[in-house]
Amino acid sequence: ASDSGAAVVDESVETTDGRHVEVAANIGQPAELDPAAERGADGVGLYRTEFLFLDRETPPSEDEQYEAVREALDTFPDGRVVVRTLDIGGDKRISYLDLPEEENPFLGERGIRRSLAPDSDLFATQLRALLRAGADGAGDLAIMFPLVATVEELDAALDTLDAAAVDVEGRDADAVDPEVGVMVETPSAAFMADELAARVDFLSIGTNDLTQYVMAADRENERVDDLHDPTHPGVLRAIHRTVTAAHAEDAWVGMCGEMAGDPALTELLVGLGLDELSMSAVTIPEVKTAVSETEYSAASERGDRARLAATRSEVHTTVDT
Ligand code: PEP
Ligand code: MG
Repeated sequence: ASDSGAAVVDESVETTDGRHVEVAANIGQPAELDPAAERGADGVGLYRTEFLFLDRETPPSEDEQYEAVREALDTFPDGRVVVRTLDIGGDKRISYLDLPEEENPFLGERGIRRSLAPDSDLFATQLRALLRAGADGAGDLAIMFPLVATVEELDAALDTLDAAAVDVEGRDADAVDPEVGVMVETPSAAFMADELAARVDFLSIGTNDLTQYVMAADRENERVDDLHDPTHPGVLRAIHRTVTAAHAEDAWVGMCGEMAGDPALTELLVGLGLDELSMSAVTIPEVKTAVSETEYSAASERGDRARLAATRSEVHTTVDT
């Protein structure tokens, strides 16, 4: 049994009426890989690569990044490992990268915006490392881009990925052809989910940032804690929109924000149609249990009622009854 009381479930799980839901781990440090596997993670749904760049004077080499990703793939030889490309700016700063002083860093140069311009060399290096790591050994690599707001950004990131594959193959090394995905964490990405999903294999909803931007409520500011809550119907509608758009394009859709790790919300999220939930390892056993106790058809009706609610308290009434 886990600390939380739910038994560890090693197998993948499905609802009582047979809908498979992937339950994966969010990883921020290599030391979290083994504990996540022990808690029954099916794979890694969000590998935050910032740790590789923090607490040092110079960026990590391509080989160093290759090794780190190989380690994750080796820990989950039968699962998928979704590696997010470098996501700095906003609250995440790195001394040697000469980040600008901005009045509103969360609305500034962060995530893919930096990777496409000031940090394009780092981005290319990271992509080469990922493509090589995915081609060698076991495990199923996927690559995901953070804070995408426009189709142009995605197209530019995909071009950089293609160029990285050409570089790797030009060195007589193998490059994998990975699944590619976009994080949906800006309102624009939720509105543009149709066009984004048409270009990639999956979308992954980052509710920490998506809630911050949909609700205009700083994720770090306790004074607006009540607004920074993904169970507001405004956020649920953004989630629903994203799921519907992804499925219409035959893309799978996951969630890797904190919301995905709350077992009290599992039925709601399954009902909204999420194919994958990724969370910090601690709640994986509980969420797996919750998925296996959910009836998808009933959850789906309840999900519709929740997202059509007018207020958060109506959403909670729907979820709790
Ligand atoms: C998110 O924004 O929900 C997310 C998963 O990314 P991060 O918390 O690393 O910004
Ligand atoms: Mg985010």
